[in-house]
Amino acid sequence: MGIRFFRENKMKCAICRNGMTENGYTTVLLEKDYTTLVFKNVPAQICSNCGEEYVSSEINRAILSRAREESGRGITLEMLRFAA
Ligand SMILES: [Zn+2]
Repeated sequence: MGIRFFRENKMKCAICRNGMTENGYTTVLLEKDYTTLVFKNVPAQICSNCGEEYVSSEINRAILSRAREESGRGITLEMLRFAA
């Protein structure tokens, strides 16, 4: 499991090579040391055929910097609503 990146808004799915992606939202789970962060409502491109999810590198950066902040607080599990 990982985060895949996209450059364009609509693209052909790199996994099944059959479907096109659509705008949607996904949930991203990040685990770092003893901290688990769950980001809800993350903007994503989702394949209409196989359901593979793609998150932009911009949003990935935002998630990672947020994760660094949160893991510094010593929490073990946190649900976050992602706001772009
Ligand atoms: Zn696909």
